[in-house]
Amino acid sequence: AKGAGKNQWRRYQAHLHGAMVERLELRSALDHAVNEGHFLLAYQPIVDLGSDEPVGFEALVRWFHPTKGVVSPAEFIEVAEESGLIVPIGRWVLEQALHTAAQWRRILPRTRQPYVSVNVSVRQFREDGFVEEILAALAYAEVPPHALMVELTETLLAGEHEPIWRDLAVLREHGVRVAIDDFGTGYSSLGYLRHRPIDVVKIDKMFIDDMVDSPQQLALVTGIVSLAQSLDLTVIAEGIESGTHRDLLARLGCPLGQGYFWSSPVDGTEALSQMTARQPL
Ligand code: C2E
Ligand code: CA
Ligand code: CA
Ligand code: CA
Repeated sequence: AKGAGKNQWRRYQAHLHGAMVERLELRSALDHAVNEGHFLLAYQPIVDLGSDEPVGFEALVRWFHPTKGVVSPAEFIEVAEESGLIVPIGRWVLEQALHTAAQWRRILPRTRQPYVSVNVSVRQFREDGFVEEILAALAYAEVPPHALMVELTETLLAGEHEPIWRDLAVLREHGVRVAIDDFGTGYSSLGYLRHRPIDVVKIDKMFIDDMVDSPQQLALVTGIVSLAQSLDLTVIAEGIESGTHRDLLARLGCPLGQGYFWSSPVDGTEALSQMTARQPL
């Protein structure tokens, strides 16, 4: 039995070692990808539930790996954050998204110009001069601040992040929109948002999935929507996959939604044609 225990221990160590090697390999491949610029952006429409027309697009990063093909951010964002590589990746995402938004603006009539929403990691805000960098990128791309939204995950609300809240307040004074992403998955409540520099709350897909079958979840979503409205916040419901979800949320008074029901993330050209199409999505 002692021998078996020893074998188990060895297997466990080999497993740990393997996982560590895998992470190191991922990190070094990611480092290479940053130097070579092996990333691309997909855009998913944020849709007005009243008209079924897009009002903005969320930019979502993908890694174009030379042998694996397109790699989802779920597989590399964590390592990117740990290693700090999210800083150069995030910089590229912002510049590329603004470049695309500028192209849309040149082509689309004034009344149909969408905003672009970019996911930003708390790690990026810890870099000195990040706010100035965003403002400079806007100026360089000739995109007005109101055409940019930044999305930060809810974990921000829980910790002590006063300097980041101050940065967000400055961005908002310039007209940049601020969204809290994946709302409902963390520990915070809407009460925390009361005096925060925020414009938008994105309700996590998890709640949208469950609300059709669970009266409790439905009550929760209803509560978030109405409280958000009383706080003057806009709500985006994420992960809308069916007409049932769409109709239910519209009836609750949720103003905006996002999900495969309308479109999965698409390239910049396809996003533009969704904006120029006469038919609502
Ligand atoms: P997220 O910000 O919550 O983005 C929404 C994710 O849900 C996207 O996955 C999107 O493709 C997916 N999605 C949208 N509608 C539906 C739907 O109806 N059904 C289902 N099942 N999924 C839907 P994606 O593109 O794989 O991104 C995953 C996460 O990676 C994002 O979650 C975000 O946290 C992170 N991420 C993506 N791009 C960036 C980036 O540029 N910077 C940072 N820091 N994180 C990013
Ligand atoms: Ca997001
Ligand atoms: Ca989200
Ligand atoms: Ca998410």
